[in-house]
Amino acid sequence: MNDGKSSCRKTQFKDGSFLSNVNCFLGEAFEFTDLDALFPGQNIAARLTAPDRAVENKVSLLMDDGSTVLVNASRVQHNNDLGPYKGGIRFDPSADIEHTKALASAMTWKCALAEIPFGGAKGGMQIDPRKMSMEELERASKGYMRAFADILGPDQDIPAPDMGTNAQVMAWMRKRYEDMNFGRISPGIVTGKPVSYGGSKGRTEATGYGLIYCAEEIFGELRNKRVVVQGFGNVGSYAAKLAFRRGAKIIGLIDPIFFKGKPALFDEKGIDVEKILEGGSGHEGNGEAEKVLAAECDLLLPCAKECTVNDGNASNLRCAAIAEGANGPLTPLAHDRLCKKGIVVVPDILANAGGVIVSYYEWLQNKQGEYWDEETVLEKLSKKMKRNARHLENFAKTSGMDMRIAAYATAIRRVAEARNESGSQ
Ligand code: GLU
Repeated sequence: MNDGKSSCRKTQFKDGSFLSNVNCFLGEAFEFTDLDALFPGQNIAARLTAPDRAVENKVSLLMDDGSTVLVNASRVQHNNDLGPYKGGIRFDPSADIEHTKALASAMTWKCALAEIPFGGAKGGMQIDPRKMSMEELERASKGYMRAFADILGPDQDIPAPDMGTNAQVMAWMRKRYEDMNFGRISPGIVTGKPVSYGGSKGRTEATGYGLIYCAEEIFGELRNKRVVVQGFGNVGSYAAKLAFRRGAKIIGLIDPIFFKGKPALFDEKGIDVEKILEGGSGHEGNGEAEKVLAAECDLLLPCAKECTVNDGNASNLRCAAIAEGANGPLTPLAHDRLCKKGIVVVPDILANAGGVIVSYYEWLQNKQGEYWDEETVLEKLSKKMKRNARHLENFAKTSGMDMRIAAYATAIRRVAEARNESGSQ
């Protein structure tokens, strides 16, 4: 495995907003792609960095107490050279339009790298779903769809769950879209739906399981490996569960929402993940988040959110390797520092693509009106994750780039080639 070759970086790595972090990695990858030859004088790097379209709407939200609040909602369509825009919708107070631009860009590169025929997009609504009733959440989901239906569509832009949204939210959105289209049945308008309402088996588990398939391909079998998981939500819980089933020793779990008292659970003898999940959230924690994050281990899986590993804590980490389950958990400075230490970092756009890959399978099933069993879905996912991991690792080795820059460079090239084939813009 190469050591990151950080000494040959052309871009100055520094931490800033999440958008500038993503653009920093992207900028470095552009240095390794000779796109100006393909697009002379077209300022192609700037074109592929800025989103095609970023729309912001105020959505009126009726609360249970009879009041109405105005909330910010956005949809950013980054690029559609490879297919319809694709990406989740995030319900979170931090999901402003700048943040959403970064996530939309990441989706373009993730889909291109995964070789699925989608572009990249992302949506955001600045609400806190944990403080809302089911009725309020339903009105918010339907209100979001009403506000953006004119730019969405099964062959145009296809949302999915992300932080703060889930299958139920997707079901409400699908229903509102169909109501707005004279009842025309359109299951492919969103993915990540409930299985009973047009969803795919295996979609809920897909990101977490995909992360483990990818890690296994790169690091070998996980049996007896010590693993720390940061974030025990949809991604982290399924990743921890599968790793546990494969015989890994899960020594640390960090999640201030799942655990009460203290934000993390640590046990060097290994945690019975299935038992913890059975008990549900509210389990008593026994450790501090940063301490458990810095525990000596073979593999760290940051599955919480962006920028959790940064300039402030990167040098404390004692893991041998990292596979990113969240989008953008490592800042540029953290990435650079860890690569220099020889820590192998498997980048988000490769490692967490399982979700959007099964979204693609769901969309295909919706188009065909034919549904696959769980074994088929997971088998296809596993094969694809492993193949993509193998290709990227080989390319990184031969090119001397670290895996993240190699991933971005590969994805950029694929988007640019499709763009080039379509003639002058
Ligand atoms: N929100 C997920 C991601 O960040 C899935 C997106 C999708 O399925 O479209 O990759």
